[in-house]
Amino acid sequence: MNENKESNIRVRFAPSPTGGLHLGGVRTVLYNYLFAKKHNGTFILRIEDTDQSRFVAGAEDYIYNCLKWCGIEPDESPEKPGSYGPYRQSERKAMYRKYAEQLIENGQAYYAFDTTEDLEKMRSENKTEDNPSPQYDARIRMKMQNSLALTNEVVQQYLQEGKPYVIRIKMPENEIISFNDMIHHEVSFESNLVDDKVLLKADGMPTYHLAVVVDDYLMKISHAFRGEEWLSSAPVHILLWKYLFGLENMPQWAHLPLILGPNGKLSKRDGAKYGFPVYAMNWTDPRSEEFTEGFKEKGFLPEAFINLLAMLGWNGGTEQELFSMEELIAEFSIERVHKSGAKFDYEKAKWFNHEWIKKSTTEALYPLVKNLFETKNVNTQTENYFKTVIGLVKERCTLISDFYEQSVYFFEAPQTLDVEAVRPKWNENKQSFFEILCNQLAELKSWDVIEIENCFKNLATEKSIKPGELQLPMRIMLVGGKFGPAVFEIAHLIGKEETLNRIQSALTKINN
Ligand code: GLU
Repeated sequence: MNENKESNIRVRFAPSPTGGLHLGGVRTVLYNYLFAKKHNGTFILRIEDTDQSRFVAGAEDYIYNCLKWCGIEPDESPEKPGSYGPYRQSERKAMYRKYAEQLIENGQAYYAFDTTEDLEKMRSENKTEDNPSPQYDARIRMKMQNSLALTNEVVQQYLQEGKPYVIRIKMPENEIISFNDMIHHEVSFESNLVDDKVLLKADGMPTYHLAVVVDDYLMKISHAFRGEEWLSSAPVHILLWKYLFGLENMPQWAHLPLILGPNGKLSKRDGAKYGFPVYAMNWTDPRSEEFTEGFKEKGFLPEAFINLLAMLGWNGGTEQELFSMEELIAEFSIERVHKSGAKFDYEKAKWFNHEWIKKSTTEALYPLVKNLFETKNVNTQTENYFKTVIGLVKERCTLISDFYEQSVYFFEAPQTLDVEAVRPKWNENKQSFFEILCNQLAELKSWDVIEIENCFKNLATEKSIKPGELQLPMRIMLVGGKFGPAVFEIAHLIGKEETLNRIQSALTKINN
């Protein structure tokens, strides 16, 4: 591909900071980012905050934190402005009016002075069974308080008086609005089905529709990847592009498939109901105090989260499922994004995390697991010891939180022992085996795995008991339950004194 052309690739993630970042939102970020990086382009974060009524404190910072956690760094953003700023729409307020006025001059938009009561009246008067929520469109507009229906004199008078108004697009009648989407290919809409959307609000702020088009133009966006829920707004955007900029340099659109939950579009409620996270990170809505769990705090690694999101709606065309960010950048292609909705499967999500925990180095896991144990107030001894433990149990952990149960017995004697798993096959011979074992282990010169194992096996032979029948009780004595890595490895790590203490205290419990 032509080098020069590649560097003209500019994509944007344009969230409205109104709450937590949903799986689908992060996937949109990711696909934008992968596409930009693959083509040596620029990835922009633009904050779409023109709807002041939906402002939510902390939501913007939350977005930055999520992107950081995912390892996605925008090339241009409010925090790192490039040459196309500001990157927060509220700070661009003054830029939009002239475009709305240009549309009015060209007869493609109009002033609308209707009050809330006028709009309510219009809706109730025009409501029919077939049309339960009538829209402000060609059939209605001439009956309303706007610059198309009122005389010029009245309009001028209203404007002079400072009567509040909005600017609406005048949707054409009986037109087919078509465009080419990179995923859906040829897409067409009937103009009659689309209402005269507000472009500029009474407070002088643009609505999303005007701002997104003007900003994509001014920021020279080449490709716009966004969720499929925006597809129905596309005809308004296409018309604005046509009216304002003659379609020149309109981005190529790609509407990404929905992420589906157990009952249609994946929702926050599904998460709460089925016990899985749907947000990238924990989020508490400051207005309602409603809490939504995040993948990060649930114990997912960012590598796994990115990987599982990439596969929700895309595949690399081979059997490969595990991809690092670098591999995704190399392999990603929009042609491989599916058209139909992508089903979110929590079990599969956990599989990705398990695989990524196994692939991660002990060094990388250490701070996360350390943090987990700190919240539980466990003394994890030396860093070296802790790291050895992590390396030994990571294969058994699906979530970071699993490290607690899978390794706490390396630091503290188990609180409970599954004695019921031992009692049915317990007998005097086994009792005597463990008593003698304690004496012999106490005498061992070096406490290494082979020595411990040899001592154990030799004694088992002497006692004519199969070692296999003794390993389960030994495991339960040291660990508390039927899990964990090789039992002699555990004994070796926890040390001689601790091993002997645990065996002796377990013998008392088994016999009670
Ligand atoms: N502000 C819109 C959102 O919150 C962006 C849609 C778009 O990318 O055009 O998702």
